[in-house]
Amino acid sequence: QGQTQGRTYQFKLVLLGESAVGKSSLVMRFVKDHFDEYRESTIGAAFLAQTISLDDNTTVKFEIWDTAGQERYKSLAPMYYRNANCAVVVYDITQASSLEKAKAWVNELQRQADPNIVIALAGNKSDLEGRRAIDTQTAQEYADEAGLLFFETSAKTAHNVHELFNAIAKRMPLDQ
Ligand code: GDP
Repeated sequence: QGQTQGRTYQFKLVLLGESAVGKSSLVMRFVKDHFDEYRESTIGAAFLAQTISLDDNTTVKFEIWDTAGQERYKSLAPMYYRNANCAVVVYDITQASSLEKAKAWVNELQRQADPNIVIALAGNKSDLEGRRAIDTQTAQEYADEAGLLFFETSAKTAHNVHELFNAIAKRMPLDQ
């Protein structure tokens, strides 16, 4: 910060979505550029940080809170989204029910979280095209209506993962 180093803006980002849609895998791909087919489920919540350079003078640092999707941890979620500046709500393009769950999270965020929260919808597992259950247009229309950023992503192939986090960084208010 200061001098010629430019500025770092720090934001708290929370991941929400049904269990096994790939929340932890998206974070791993974004932070460590790694994918693990057999990783263990997140218990409670996990924390990681990653920075994005928007330009020579502007760095965005995300403090990422990856929450467990299991129903028994659901009551903990408000603790994580209460102070969040941005959220990634994830569904799995091969599981129709996971989009309904994502919509419920978006509703909860829009009612309970910071009114200025930036929300992105991620349709993950785009590599599993043959098992697709939710078409792109349906999700895009919902995202447009709800005012969400929208990307179909694959933590496995890395498709659109950096694009997703970059788009969030660009949408954050950087004028404090
Ligand atoms: P979470 O419970 O939402 O955090 O989901 P995980 O990140 O633990 O992923 C659940 C399962 O889906 C794991 O077996 C992952 O390897 C797998 N997975 C996650 N992302 C992808 C993806 O983009 N493509 C495919 N094919 N599998 C994925």
